[in-house]
Amino acid sequence: MAVIGHYIGGKSVTTAGRTAPVFDPATGAQTGEALLASTATVGEAVAAAAAAFPGWADTPTLTRARVMFKFKALLERDIDALAEAITREHGKTFEDAKGEVTRGIEVVEFACGIPHLLRGDFTEQVARGVDVFSARHPLGVVAGITPFNFPVMVPMWMFPVAIACGNSFVLKPSEKDPTPSLMLAELLAEAGLPAGVFNVVQGDKEAVDALLTHPDIAAVSFVGSTAIGEYVYRTACAHGKRAQALCGAKNHLVVMPDADLDKTVDALMGAGYGSAGERCMAVSVAVAVGGVGDALLDRLVPKVRALKVGPGLDRDSEMGPLVTKEHLAKVSGYVDAGVAEGAKLVVDGRGLKLQGYEDGYFIGGCLFDDVTPDMKIYKDEIFGPVLSVVRVDSFAEALKLVNDHEYGNGAAIFTRDGDSARTFDRDAKAGMIGINVPIPVPVAFHSFGGWKRSVFGDRNVYGMEGVGFYTKMKTTTARWPTGIREGAQFVMPTTG
Ligand code: NAD
Repeated sequence: MAVIGHYIGGKSVTTAGRTAPVFDPATGAQTGEALLASTATVGEAVAAAAAAFPGWADTPTLTRARVMFKFKALLERDIDALAEAITREHGKTFEDAKGEVTRGIEVVEFACGIPHLLRGDFTEQVARGVDVFSARHPLGVVAGITPFNFPVMVPMWMFPVAIACGNSFVLKPSEKDPTPSLMLAELLAEAGLPAGVFNVVQGDKEAVDALLTHPDIAAVSFVGSTAIGEYVYRTACAHGKRAQALCGAKNHLVVMPDADLDKTVDALMGAGYGSAGERCMAVSVAVAVGGVGDALLDRLVPKVRALKVGPGLDRDSEMGPLVTKEHLAKVSGYVDAGVAEGAKLVVDGRGLKLQGYEDGYFIGGCLFDDVTPDMKIYKDEIFGPVLSVVRVDSFAEALKLVNDHEYGNGAAIFTRDGDSARTFDRDAKAGMIGINVPIPVPVAFHSFGGWKRSVFGDRNVYGMEGVGFYTKMKTTTARWPTGIREGAQFVMPTTG
């Protein structure tokens, strides 16, 4: 059985200690054992990163960019191997995993532009003989704590930008699918990144707490559930760190009566059931406006019933298993709760058994109609292939639903009417809006982040927001001696 260890100072580290089992969700078989870093092991990783920082921060931005260019080429070379590693531990389909790696590569492509992105400002002659210039400096050692659902893409929302900015990095990936993080570490080393600039510690709460309280960690980026994210944000801030935490979601897709229903249904299928709903930008609520519900359901129900559920490595599968046995039980429990609360379960995917994969963590697509805002299945993030249809009479009611929900990650509207689309875009309280686009994950040169309890902190990830998060500004006011002696001045200096 594979022992999945840490990567510290350019070497793999397998210090004995507590472990967590890693499973293949398609078969239910244990495939590995992840080491769980102790506080001492985290300390070693932070020390390696701190030792590497000064040299890396002094490395010219063009040289840093060249490492990123090589890293991008290596990711493209190994994309199949990375995708297979994701599928084996996460369960998502191979093609979806390739899509995940591609979205990560896009952030590396953005980071390749770091010489331009870090170009400073210069203002000549702000006063006579005085110039002012500003430059962005790296923070030091920064940490990333990431969730199971994107073991490659989410770490790559963080570290390419952080490293390109001149920081060193300690990644604490999810203990449920830890292998791809080590592959990324090896590829960075092959790309020429100096040892210690990128480190990986596998672990759980102990490792996270060690990072959050370590005096040499300057900033923490977290992506995961809201309860843990709020704790991470508060603890990191209380220990004087810059922090950002991107958290849970309940994304609504508003279906207006004038929407192209065939396209809307295709969008709902992909966004509701892709990656078995284990995406923070999954659509889990379809809001049917003004009587469009019946026509929507007529088209949706046969498609949900026809979903091809199977192992992620089977190229015919449209949806793989859930990540763990516990998560399968949790998602099934939510479906039970929805039935008990009076929602109409029109497609029931519970209890699905696949021949040859009887111990896999499979559930079929589930579809609820007549869901109301007081129900648990409406309020909570289920993080599974469970789509709820809520029927309302008007656009205003649909918008109110979006805005009253505690989460505000993404929200989408499907319509042919520009007025509704524009009003929705301006008034919906969510950080990412889709207009006839179901999963509006912004491209790498914009940035990603939600509103309300989908986020803690004030900076999005990647794009210029990422550059801002991983750097601090220094502004210099300079005057060179001219031979004129003015003597000491005791009033506040002003221009002129
Ligand atoms: P999670 O919160 O359970 O875990 C996230 C990270 O926190 C992992 O590295 C985990 O090891 C660590 N962790 C878990 N329990 C901890 C504890 N008690 N103390 C300290 N650290 C702890 O999340 P998950 O189940 O891995 O991922 C799914 C969640 O992530 C969903 O809520 C999803 O919406 C969210 N997510 C959000 C975004 C976003 O950008 N908003 C993106 C992807 C996933």
